[in-house]
Amino acid sequence: MTNSNVAVSDTQSAIAMAITAATAVNNSSLFSPSPYNITLFSRNKFPKSIEAATAGKNTVWVDAMRASSPTRSSSENNQEKKDWIMKHPSALGVFEEIMSAAKMKQVVIFLDYDGTLSPIVENPDQAYMAPEMREAVKNVAKYFPTAIVSGRCRAKVYNFVRLSELYYAGSHGMDIKGPSSRKHKKGNQNVLCQPAKEFLPMMTEVYELLLEKTKGIIGANVENNKFCLSVHFRRVEEESWSDLADRVKSVLKDYPKLRLTQGRKVLEIRPTIKWDKGKAIEFLLESLGYANSKDVLPVYIGDDKTDEDAFKVLRERGQGFGILVSKVMNFLQRLVTWKRSIMRSH
Ligand SMILES: [Mg+2]
Repeated sequence: MTNSNVAVSDTQSAIAMAITAATAVNNSSLFSPSPYNITLFSRNKFPKSIEAATAGKNTVWVDAMRASSPTRSSSENNQEKKDWIMKHPSALGVFEEIMSAAKMKQVVIFLDYDGTLSPIVENPDQAYMAPEMREAVKNVAKYFPTAIVSGRCRAKVYNFVRLSELYYAGSHGMDIKGPSSRKHKKGNQNVLCQPAKEFLPMMTEVYELLLEKTKGIIGANVENNKFCLSVHFRRVEEESWSDLADRVKSVLKDYPKLRLTQGRKVLEIRPTIKWDKGKAIEFLLESLGYANSKDVLPVYIGDDKTDEDAFKVLRERGQGFGILVSKVMNFLQRLVTWKRSIMRSH
């Protein structure tokens, strides 16, 4: 593991990586009383929204930004990570259990991109995926419908991943497209969903304003993700975070139809429509023909606040498991080996 380890060191408090496997079967011993059930994200790590976290003074604002953005070298975070590992064994350790739930069901794989398939790097434009990881995803997609669900613009994620057989849900699920090559009988490569289409001119306008407003802050990087915008502050000195927050808020005060949330060293601006990564996976499962099916086992792998929306949807269908981000590739490889052995035995 090369790149993935980098991701672990950045995620530190190992809020890190969580994999949630959910199933329509609720009476399996795999679920509710399982020691592997986890609380994915604690409230103090990820405030619900910037609005909530910033009701008070700007110090609260900066605290919220800090809480969502653990630094690389804190020994406190290292301890927290070790504690988390102790509590939440890798999904590889419970692989057999997960796979026994998967028998006779269609496994559908959902993968976040940044911090999950790629390392978190200083320059978001360089969050490349390791060739081994691409190979692992490519192999998984041979056997299971596979979707990438990301906050980034769909075209950008596609350029990083470059696998035409996958589903892509960009802009936090607000821009969904099916595979351009058909691998699964139930799959629909024509699937397209853009629930925030009407916001496109507004997002372009706000992007320009944010570019202008944040120009004076060294290291600030505004990314246009089409149906949402990201203001990255991982290269901004901490003493400027408050100033950056003020400038972003000053732009958004004229746009009540947009909301501000945050992830790791990033502020996210998106439409207030009721659509998120959770809705995206519901939409994709429906497109695949598994809307109310008991014959499906959706697996979502993500590492950030916005993934919680997806975890929630899956939790409502079943319960979850913890896995460290460094194990994603191994997990995907093992899934392929498992599927091949089943196919051989039939
Ligand atoms: Mg992520």
